[in-house]
Amino acid sequence: MPDSNISNSPLPGLYIVATPIGNLGDIGARAARTLARADVIAAEDTRVTAKLLSHLGLRVPMTPYHDHSDERIRAALVARMEQEVVVLVSDAGTPLISDPGYKLVRAARAAGRHVTTLPGPCAAIAGITLSGLPSDRFLFAGFLPNKAKARADTIAEFAGLRATLVFYESGPRLAATLAALAEGLGDREAAVAREISKMFEECVTGTLSALAARYEDAPPKGEIVVIVGPPGEAVAEEADDATLDAAIRDAMRDKPVAQAAKAVAKRFGLDRHDIYARALVLKEQA
Ligand code: SAM
Repeated sequence: MPDSNISNSPLPGLYIVATPIGNLGDIGARAARTLARADVIAAEDTRVTAKLLSHLGLRVPMTPYHDHSDERIRAALVARMEQEVVVLVSDAGTPLISDPGYKLVRAARAAGRHVTTLPGPCAAIAGITLSGLPSDRFLFAGFLPNKAKARADTIAEFAGLRATLVFYESGPRLAATLAALAEGLGDREAAVAREISKMFEECVTGTLSALAARYEDAPPKGEIVVIVGPPGEAVAEEADDATLDAAIRDAMRDKPVAQAAKAVAKRFGLDRHDIYARALVLKEQA
């Protein structure tokens, strides 16, 4: 199939290139061709990207790029995209996903530059596929805050979502994070996916509390994705339509609609917006 994005004379613009998350063999042919044809590679850490380039036998000019880089650095890259192929990479995986690039893509779009992406490895997606947890609906939450209060507040925001949750984590913080998740979400099914695509890849499944206990005295090494299943069947079963309607009517007796919806959503672990829509219908019928 002809490749319109990266032909012999590729269009100038911004090329977002995903790179391996541990196994250099996972670099795609199109990603390698794009790196080879770059006029400049904007890299999170040029030393890390140099290893990938050396694996591919390439020598391509690089420049460091972070979203907190000086505005002038970003503007200079955007200016180059008018005539040149600028490739964005991060140290591993997909740029912008808990990695730099968001501001550069926005700036490139605002300037009307050609922007394209070469999809590839992403630890969050790889973790979901390994976990055996529901993959039809998920929320990627990146790294949780370090401080306990901020972490608990963030977890509380996710508690009502009927979706699998995906977090990035490090070994030393893992047990505390799992315990905080059990506390804030209830003791759900979960998985700890570690060192994906590397020699010691593993995926350990269990309840959040069992996983927290497992890692408490033995923090694991390496890179980690935590995947947490949605609220359990018990909650869903209890929340049949008649039960929900009764609960909403009951809550609306002494609360405004929005507050009633919020309380019912929290009680049954459901989406607040869905319950609010149903509450409006019930109010209309009353
Ligand atoms: N942009 C990357 C991506 O697409 O996955 C993620 C960058 S983020 C700074 C790095 C975090 O991703 C690590 O701390 C870890 O939580 C997760 N991660 C990266 N590589 C991994 C791997 N091979 N196995 C498990 N988790 C990994």
